[in-house]
Amino acid sequence: MIGVRPSVLAPGGLWQNWGRSASSHPVMMARPTNVDEVVSIVRFARDNELTVKTVGAGHSFSAIAATDGIMLDLGWIEGLSAVDERLGRVTLGAGTNLYQLPTILAPYRLALANMGDIDRQTIAGATSTGTHGTGARFGGLATQIVAATLVVGDGSILRVSETEHPELLPAVRLGLGALGVLVDLTIQCVPSFLLSAVERPVGFDFVLDEFEEHSSATDHFEFYWWPHTDGVMAKTNTRLPAEAERKPLRRINEFVEDRVVSNGVLSVICNVGHVAPFVIPSINRLATRVYGNRSYTDHSHRVFASPRTTRFREMEYAIPRAAVPEALRAIRTLIDDRGWRISFPIEVRVAEADDNWLSTAEGRDTGYIAVHRHFRDDPEQYFRAVEQIMKSYGGRPHWGKMHYQDAESLAGLYPHLADFLAVRDRLDPGRTFTNPYLDRVLGA
Ligand SMILES: Cc1cc2nc3c(=O)[nH]c(=O)nc-3n(C[C@H](O)[C@H](O)[C@H](O)COP(=O)(O)OP(=O)(O)OC[C@H]3O[C@@H](n4cnc5c(N)ncnc54)[C@H](O)[C@@H]3O)c2cc1C
Repeated sequence: MIGVRPSVLAPGGLWQNWGRSASSHPVMMARPTNVDEVVSIVRFARDNELTVKTVGAGHSFSAIAATDGIMLDLGWIEGLSAVDERLGRVTLGAGTNLYQLPTILAPYRLALANMGDIDRQTIAGATSTGTHGTGARFGGLATQIVAATLVVGDGSILRVSETEHPELLPAVRLGLGALGVLVDLTIQCVPSFLLSAVERPVGFDFVLDEFEEHSSATDHFEFYWWPHTDGVMAKTNTRLPAEAERKPLRRINEFVEDRVVSNGVLSVICNVGHVAPFVIPSINRLATRVYGNRSYTDHSHRVFASPRTTRFREMEYAIPRAAVPEALRAIRTLIDDRGWRISFPIEVRVAEADDNWLSTAEGRDTGYIAVHRHFRDDPEQYFRAVEQIMKSYGGRPHWGKMHYQDAESLAGLYPHLADFLAVRDRLDPGRTFTNPYLDRVLGA
């Protein structure tokens, strides 16, 4: 292929995502080391009527990263390329993983304003699917992106920022990988800070009866409800200045609690539950006693993110925040009525309204409800039934998590969908960057 070093390309093979809920056979794997090579690959694909799909860390549960065309891995286009210390902004290669950021940002005393619960994703993959954490006054990663460079469908390089094509920012910050190959992203950071974390077991009704108050009383509020129980593990994280006193978990305690107790117990529950579902209610009750009763203060990234060693599948819906208590009670009734045995906790988080066109929090203060199943359990019946409940609240599915909607059923949920599709037509008229998932949710 003209312009592409042979070492950049390799024959494709089986690709699978982390949750083992999506797989594909890319015809080729490409690992470019610079932007010119990305341009050559995109042009080669366009000229040969192949598609190109960039994969991040493969941590989406939906098939959003799957392709039978050329799979592009930007693992070599990573790390810091520019810093604006005055504005607190960093420009990073799109293949940078979130777990690299603490080391990259430390010399500048900067941090991400908010994070989800793991740090394995790439920044490009995370922002492209609307990855979020929790916090009534905070948005997801895409709200922190102030500029991006991407290679678009004709192979040209497009710079989007507050001064260059600013009208494209609300689309490019959260573009589902449909608009081009992001090669760098500029993130608006905040001064580094500590988080004081308090995890406590509380009652189901206690947390739902005053959900709005709980979720706005602290900077970052979330909770996990164990089906078949009245037990909830509530987690509040309060922001403190970087100079405040750190009281981290002792390494040994952290290892025992996060790896052995949290992930280990969860793994046992899931494995036992898989072969003997009737024991799930009792072990869930036990779990409400061993999980979450601790407090500590540490660097923000050490509190936001933790390891996930038990493989699972997930569906997450965004609904108007005020609807969360009613929706979760409806899911509880559903589980009871159907007699299902669900071993995984349901996670509830919040986010501030934002203005990214395909953001699940676009235009409304949002509550998130996430349901999970162990990867060996078939999630479909449970997820489809929960999806019906979430749809009745105008629910928007997380783009990187499982759901069963398509372009027709999603129409009407996003006021700026037509604007996004117009940008897609402009940047990728030949659909070089599409795949079956994007055809399904956006149309061909
Ligand atoms: C254990 C686990 C925990 C999770 N926790 C959270 C959470 O707390 N909050 C949350 O919101 N989500 C969470 N997720 C979902 C996850 O954050 C998203 O699915 C995210 O997109 C995964 O990032 P990735 O780098 O693996 O991207 P991938 O899944 O590999 O790709 C996702 C999309 O990004 C596109 N993309 C990737 N790189 C580029 C690029 N350079 N240019 C253009 N497009 C690109 C891909 O083409 C694809 O469309 C979790 C997932 C797992 C498995």
